[in-house]
Amino acid sequence: MESENRQSQVVVSELDLTSRDEIAAQLSGLDLAYCFQCGVCSGSCPTASRMEYGPRRIVHMLRLGLVDQVLRSRDVWMCVSCFSCSARCPQGIEIADVMSVLRNTALAKGVAKDEEAVFSRTFVDVVQRYGRMFEMEALLRYYASKPGLSGLAGLVRQAELGIRMFRKGKISLRPERIDDLEDLRRIVAHVSRGERR
Ligand code: SF4
Ligand code: SF4
Repeated sequence: MESENRQSQVVVSELDLTSRDEIAAQLSGLDLAYCFQCGVCSGSCPTASRMEYGPRRIVHMLRLGLVDQVLRSRDVWMCVSCFSCSARCPQGIEIADVMSVLRNTALAKGVAKDEEAVFSRTFVDVVQRYGRMFEMEALLRYYASKPGLSGLAGLVRQAELGIRMFRKGKISLRPERIDDLEDLRRIVAHVSRGERR
């Protein structure tokens, strides 16, 4: 009984209703209270099997105020913004938008230290620079951010795949830039501010 009380105290102390309301304010017109936990979102999500909680639990945790746990989870970085969850939610909850706001919030609060977050930031940086992916730079920057020799080991692991892709013409040794780079940067800046489409 005593341990049960201690456990519930820990959970209550983790509730952050202020942050929850700040996140909700960025999702104007979206009320998570309409979620009845049917699980269609998690069943539709192509990356749910790689997540810690999945979209259904993420929505529930947010409603409870478990914001810190949500922001530190890998789930927000495993979301690929496919919008399957949003399209299929019977309650019209735009979960893809929720994930987007969570990513921005995790970055703003400096809690996005997960390796998926580093990869995501590197990906966006490279795309902003050239207008398209330049795999060589993205991989070098990503693995260079890893501590000690683990980055070098990661690069070596990717080398064989990289050589095969290069031989098939799938990757290049030089970056290619698109013409309308400024337009793309404006779009990325717009999305990064968490503005809704
Ligand atoms: S599909 Fe919608 S209503 Fe169902 S659990 Fe997900 S967010 Fe909630
Ligand atoms: S938008 Fe994200 S959370 Fe929703 S189904 Fe796609 S990957 Fe999963």
